[in-house]
Amino acid sequence: MKVIIAHTAGFCMGVRRAMNKAFVTLGHEKGPIYTHGPIIHNPQIVKLLEERGVQKLDEVDKNLDGTIIIRAHGISPMERAKIRSSHLNVVDATCPKVARVQAAAKKHHNLGYLVVVVGDNDHAEVRGILGYTGGEGQVVSEIEDINSLPDSKQVLVVAQTTFSREMFYEFVDAIKKKYSNADTKVIDTICDSTRRRQNEVKELAKKVDAMVIVGGKTSGNTKRLFDVSIEAGIESFQIEDETELDFEKLKKFKTIGLTAGASTPNWVIMKVADRISSVGKQMSENEEKLGWVKHRLKKVLRFIVLTNIYTAISAGGLAIAAACLLNVNDFWKMSLISGLFIFSMYILNRIKDPEAMKFNDPEREKFYQDKRGVLIAGSFISIIMSMALALSIRPTVFLLLVMAMLLGVAYSVKVVPPFLTKYVRYRRLKDIPASKTFFVAAAWAGVSAATPYLAATNKVPVISFLAVFAFCFFLVLIRAALYDIRDIQGDAVVGRETIPILIGKKWTQVLVLFFTLLVTALIITATVNGLITSLGYSLLIIPIYALFSLYLYHKRVIFQGILFELVVDFEFILAGLISIVWFLI
Ligand code: SF4
Repeated sequence: MKVIIAHTAGFCMGVRRAMNKAFVTLGHEKGPIYTHGPIIHNPQIVKLLEERGVQKLDEVDKNLDGTIIIRAHGISPMERAKIRSSHLNVVDATCPKVARVQAAAKKHHNLGYLVVVVGDNDHAEVRGILGYTGGEGQVVSEIEDINSLPDSKQVLVVAQTTFSREMFYEFVDAIKKKYSNADTKVIDTICDSTRRRQNEVKELAKKVDAMVIVGGKTSGNTKRLFDVSIEAGIESFQIEDETELDFEKLKKFKTIGLTAGASTPNWVIMKVADRISSVGKQMSENEEKLGWVKHRLKKVLRFIVLTNIYTAISAGGLAIAAACLLNVNDFWKMSLISGLFIFSMYILNRIKDPEAMKFNDPEREKFYQDKRGVLIAGSFISIIMSMALALSIRPTVFLLLVMAMLLGVAYSVKVVPPFLTKYVRYRRLKDIPASKTFFVAAAWAGVSAATPYLAATNKVPVISFLAVFAFCFFLVLIRAALYDIRDIQGDAVVGRETIPILIGKKWTQVLVLFFTLLVTALIITATVNGLITSLGYSLLIIPIYALFSLYLYHKRVIFQGILFELVVDFEFILAGLISIVWFLI
């Protein structure tokens, strides 16, 4: 079954910000940590925080100490006063857009306005806003509620940030009618993220047979998405996770639209997408031949991606390009060494760090659980083959692999003794913020560029090696940054401080653009000055391809899973293919 995932599905800015604050607090605070109510309306996230010792408080006791995180929906000034009277440190994760509504409510209440909030009476955000009106603010959830609003000469109308815009303006018209002789001011406080999400559901509803909306049962914006979808005249299902999918009902459809509330994590969306597309597998097998071929092809691609064979082929492609740039002809062996080495390292690292896989790549996590033994055996056989090949070329190439392997092991080992932690903040290389991105790039570039350099029978100038090393390093850095952007939520959960977590998604994309320009300038300069072979000109297409991948990710054409890896890693396979053609002609 075909699944179209909405571009806007998943965390909004306010939720992402709250999650980052929560996980940073978890990583840095020593004492007990609390959240004021659920930090966001998502049961999986609340459970995850509970598992890590974060307690959800409904009432604040003044004898408590530790740290309290204020939820994304905000709290009332009375609740803030209670926290102030306790010994708790405060981490305020109130979404800035909610804080703006609170500020407008407070200001207008002080100016004598009757504040009317259009929204859900029971929602934490609405209760928080009302707190800024000295208990005089009013909520309208149904049009009929307007009749019972008190008289006033000045009225301010605001909305719960996740309210439907169409409905809000219906309420506004009715309120204006009621207060036709009053000064009625309207501030449209509906969040843009909500508006875009709802508009996309309407658009998606025209292209699909049914819609699945994923999100917490208590999430107002998820419920609203469901309502918008129903109003668009399409069969719709609201679920919290993949276990709630009704396959009996779904199997009659060909194409399903999938969207999610603002507090739904990516890994939950991906699990749902995966389960829905598996319904399609059974149907297409029984249907036409073309469906069967497509299904087999998908299975093969899935296998080579999940096993890391695809990553190994990509590493091989990069090694071929590096060898040809240095004019080293025996590139098949280098490509095998590099491919086998990267294959082995990736499997071992992933097996060592299953938690990150659980959130970033649930499909791979399941695959690794099922095939753990075979993968470990494959990894050891590969490293032995890689070492043997390296030794058959030259002992220095063998030593290079040994060093790279030792560095790989040292990356996760606590090398700084406990008594030095007063002076040295990080005990492992892994703990240094953003180290993973640079480390992966250095490992790939080292194996790809240094192998042909050390193996060359002709004398290769050091400057040429450095140029090729930098070419490989920046290309892999771009790849690693794209993966880090994709994995931002899962990395935050497991406490990894990657570049996107440190500087945000937007600035990481700017950085990717900068690296792309840098690598382009590097290829041109090195080729023009004869430091690398004329292949450099043909390889100018590779940074452009990397940017194209970023664009596809941005447009959510490649969002997660197999397709993402197939498209992103193809840049190195392309580099290898171009190099082979260049060598042959
Ligand atoms: S939906 Fe909008 S207002 Fe609500 S938390 Fe997200 S960004 Fe903030």
